[in-house]
Amino acid sequence: MKTQNNILRKQFLAHVGQTSPSPQLITVDRAEGVYFYTPEDKQYFDLISGVSVSNVGHGNSAVVDAVCRQAQDYMHIMVYGEMVERPQVEYATLISSLLPEGLDSVYFLNSGAEAVEGALKLAKRYTGRTEMVSMRRAYHGSTHGAMSMMGFPEGEEWKNAFRPLLPDCKAIEFNNFTDLEQISSRTACVLCEPVQGEAGVRPPVDGYLQALRRRCSEVGALLIFDEIQTGMGRTGEMFAMTKYGVTPDIVCLAKAFGGGMPLGAFVSSKEIMDCLQSNPVLGHITTFGGHPVCCAAGLAAARYLIDNSVVEEVESKGALYESLLEKHPQVVEIRRSGLLLAVELGSSEKLYKLMDIFIEKGILSDWFLYCDTAFRISPPLTITTEEVCQSAELISQALNCL
Ligand code: PLP
Repeated sequence: MKTQNNILRKQFLAHVGQTSPSPQLITVDRAEGVYFYTPEDKQYFDLISGVSVSNVGHGNSAVVDAVCRQAQDYMHIMVYGEMVERPQVEYATLISSLLPEGLDSVYFLNSGAEAVEGALKLAKRYTGRTEMVSMRRAYHGSTHGAMSMMGFPEGEEWKNAFRPLLPDCKAIEFNNFTDLEQISSRTACVLCEPVQGEAGVRPPVDGYLQALRRRCSEVGALLIFDEIQTGMGRTGEMFAMTKYGVTPDIVCLAKAFGGGMPLGAFVSSKEIMDCLQSNPVLGHITTFGGHPVCCAAGLAAARYLIDNSVVEEVESKGALYESLLEKHPQVVEIRRSGLLLAVELGSSEKLYKLMDIFIEKGILSDWFLYCDTAFRISPPLTITTEEVCQSAELISQALNCL
């Protein structure tokens, strides 16, 4: 077993393209609920959920059954949007019923970055404007367009090597009311995560998203919410936008939206969406977007969340983590929205050390792209209160080793 695993690791390093210079190199054999296991049967507590993907838990039988059934019925037939495929239609209809009024036309894609690309194009096409505004420390994906809207447009380590990026992009400070004045009648859209994820979990301050909504409406700019990480129950509501009572013109979904399969979407009103049908026709196209197996998985996962009232318990489980960890002497602060937590240690040296201790103790966590002083807790939403307590105990033991 050990030799086989070593061979696999060597082949991984030799043949699987990597952009991480120091991959974790844990071999995954199987996964169930909040755990995954190596071939040697070492158990890991999954505190990442594949970065907010596995909201219904690993190996969820409702999702697995839906995938198997759909794979048997049919997989890929024709490029997106030409055929009537039941999983797409049913999932689009369900999502439209869950989102606020006016968000009822769903364009399916393969990933979060693609959803962002599509949304930006839609906003430019609808408004006839070119300026696009984002929030500092935001992450929206790794393609050229999404990357143009991430982090710090004035220059930074993640982006500089890939310039030139999209023109006419600028960023404002999230939660800064004065910066909203920079959104003008030149602005096609403002792209914003309602709770900033990779900035290290930064929820909006009171009234900020409402003020942002007002400013966009005043100047005729479209408001795009990136709910790729916050959607499908992560923050304690099916979508974070309903938590704050603010409806965007377009919302981007991905990650948990596919129930563990690759699926993204941008959603708007039909009136806005339909402008991609003319000048030019086929304003956005994709071969695999909305793959029937992925839609079947996403649909089964969404129904699972609803039928089992999973989202209703997210807030109390998140609060339980907070109460169990906030008093630990190594913890400086906990920032949280539902079951998306950033546990702030105030030091990247401590954080890197802790990551190694976590691996020894069988915990998988990580830090944030724009915050390497805090670690992430975003387990499957199906985690039980007992499992919250067990994992918090493991985390405390790891923190004691610092
Ligand atoms: N938007 C947010 C808020 C994200 O957290 C991510 C991924 O982490 C993305 C977009 C990009 O999604 P994907 O990796 O599917 O392209």
